[in-house]
Parts: sequence; C-alpha cells; structure tokens
Amino acid sequence: MTDNLTLQEAAETAIPVTLGERSYQILIGEDLLGKTALHLDSFLPGARCAVVSDENVAGLHLDKLKRGLQEQGLYLGEIIVPPGESSKCFARLEQVCDRLLDLGVERGDCVIAFGGGVVGDLAGFAASILRRGVNLLQIPTSLLAQVDSSVGGKTGIDMPQGKNLIGTFFQPALVLADMSVLSTLPERQIRAGYAEVAKYGLIGDAEFFAWLETAWPEIIEGGTDARKKAIATSCRAKAAIVAEDEKEESGKRALLNLGHTFGHALEAFTGYSDTLLHGEAIAIGMTLAFRFSAEEGICEPADAERVKAHFQAVGLPTEIADIDGAKPSAAEMLRLMAQDKKVHAGQLNLVLVRGIGSAYLDAKFDMDALTAFLQRECAP
Ligand code: NAD
Repeated sequence: MTDNLTLQEAAETAIPVTLGERSYQILIGEDLLGKTALHLDSFLPGARCAVVSDENVAGLHLDKLKRGLQEQGLYLGEIIVPPGESSKCFARLEQVCDRLLDLGVERGDCVIAFGGGVVGDLAGFAASILRRGVNLLQIPTSLLAQVDSSVGGKTGIDMPQGKNLIGTFFQPALVLADMSVLSTLPERQIRAGYAEVAKYGLIGDAEFFAWLETAWPEIIEGGTDARKKAIATSCRAKAAIVAEDEKEESGKRALLNLGHTFGHALEAFTGYSDTLLHGEAIAIGMTLAFRFSAEEGICEPADAERVKAHFQAVGLPTEIADIDGAKPSAAEMLRLMAQDKKVHAGQLNLVLVRGIGSAYLDAKFDMDALTAFLQRECAP
C-alpha cells in the first residue's frame, strides 16, 4: 500500500449502502486511519473534523487519526467520553453537544464517531441534532461496531425504561472500518462482536453460518482473511437490509433484531453493565429465540441445538443461568420486553426462526406459551 493511493483504493473492500442521495460507502481494510484526512476531501469537501471517542480508544488510537487531520488543517478538537454503555445517556449527550458547539462545528463540518457502538450511537445522535444535522463519519473500532452498529444510521441513547429508546435515523457520509485497530480489542469484546456476525448467518444466510462453524477460531484469534470475509459479509447483509427498509417500516430491518427482545431485557436487568455485554446478551437472546421457535414447532429442535452448541464453542453465554449474579424472573423479563420498540398496539412482535438462515417477524405467537417458556428458562 503506498501513500498516494486514495482511501477508496487503499481499502480492500468497498460496500455501497444504496439510499438515494443519502447513499454512502463502507470501506474495509487495514491501516486506513492515517489516510483518513488525506482523502476526506473527496467525501466531504472542506469539512473540518471534531472527533468523539472514548478513553480507551482515544488512548490507543487517537494520535494516528489526529495527526493526519492536523497535518491537513482539518482538526477542530476532540471530545472524550468514559467507556461503556453508561455514556449513552442524556447527560453525556448534552455534554457532547455543548462541546461540539464550543468547538465551532458548522453544518458543513464533520463529527467523527471514533470508537465502538457506544460512541457511534452517542456521537451519531449528537451529529443528527446539532444544528439540525451535521456530517457524520463513522470510524468503528470494535468488531461489533464494524459489522453492525456503524452501518445503517440508527443512533441513540438508553433510558431507565429501556435501551435505545431515544434516538434518530441518521446516515453517516462514510463508514471506515480499519481492521488493524481490532488488534487492541480485548478478547471478550471480540467474542461479543462475533455474536452479531453469527446473527447475519442465522437471519438469512445458512451457508455463511456453516462457514462460521469452522472459521470462528480464526476470526476470534485475528486471522486477517477470515476477519475480512466475516466483516464484509456482515456489512453486505446489513447494507442490503437497510437499503430495503431504512426506517424499519416493512418488517425487513426488524429481522436484525433476532435475539434482541430477550437480549435487551437482559441488558436492562443487569443495568447495562460489564456483567453482560450487548453481544453476550444477544447470544443468549438468539439461543432463546431458536429454542422458543423449536418448542412452538416452527423450527427443528436440531437447529436450536446447533446454534447453542456453536455459541458455547465460541465461549459465549447461551442461557439466562450463565449470567453472573441475580437472574431475572419471568415476570421481570416480560415487563422489560414490553418496552421493546417492536411493540405495536400493545402486542409484542418477536423475531422467530423457521430454521438457520430463515428468520421472520411474528406478531401472532402465543403469549401464554412465551410466558410458560420464560418461566422454565428463568427457573433457578
Ligand atoms: P463499546 O462501544 O462499549 O465498546 C466495547 C469496549 O471496547 C469499550 O470499553 C471500548 O472502549 C473498547 N474498545 C472499542 N474499540 C477498541 C479497540 N480498538 N481497542 C481497545 N478497546 C476498544 O461497545 P460495542 O460492543 O462496540 O457496541 C455496543 C453498543 O452498540 C450498544 O450500545 C448497542 O446498543 C449498540 N448497537 C447499535 C447498533 C446500531 O444499529 N446503531 C447496532 C448494534 C449495537
């Protein structure tokens, strides 16, 4: 790779997200950070940049990004938030907006969300409401953010009532997934991000899931080719779904929520803490969605077993009993699940499965059966 390559040429893979005038590219490759500033002009001519990051990511990788931006005279400043889900809150959003205004970010400038999904959701939300919307560049640094949260334009913060309940749809101008930064991501976070990779196989690509069943050790341990394929396949799947149903209106985008109704309830129960990472919660959630589908006779029990066995092999939790400390009761789970964004006219919609690679949105499942299922799953 030479320095005179454009960012687009330097990236090994470019995936379009096709949304009319809001279309953008996901660029995937290695050592892209240092090239960002040099080629920003082709994506956002004249934009100066304010970088939002968290303490961990900033400590490890901000210098590289910042140096390039400073050299091109494009650097406005940085806003560093504490790491972790608790930064997705109103107080932190207010601080970020306040500081972005102090830095003098104008509508033609750019907010760079430089971090995991937490920073992406928080900074993306701030960019979407600042001056009624300024340019956003997503530079995801966790596996989860590279395969999921940086793509598709969902932004937001959590509320005590539930996760992601306040937010916007706001597409970035560009997503830049530099795989090199994953070398510093703790292994537990890699595993948690992997749950979202597996999700794409479970939703609609049985062949991809079968490949993951053999390729997962390489993806976890950092094999470049396997990681690149996993990230690109995930981004392509998400881009296709987002292009079809950007604002979750037709039910197609809701499929990306496989396991999330259970998972979000578990995250709320554990207080959005390190007890249970988002990816871990949805690994349990997806296992539950398969098992409930099997119990309802919608999917083969063997498929539910296969999903559980895979997540266990990877080292992800698969049962409510796997959560450290207090466990929710069935009543607590149902109360928290009722806050789900897929509730319409009081009726909970669940993403269920007909098999591996065949998820669908079900509004007609038997609520009594779900209650009985959760009573069994939550039994001590
Ligand atoms: P995160 O942002 O908290 O990052 C996980 C941890 O890894 C943090 O401690 C972070 O500081 C650290 N980290 C990130 N990159 C690193 C690197 N390269 N090296 C070392 N440490 C690094 O969490 P996450 O798992 O990335 O994202 C989870 C969030 O994403 C949740 O809030 C979830 O709701 C959200 N999400 C949003 C969407 C969406 O469509 N907007 C989709 C899925 C998930």
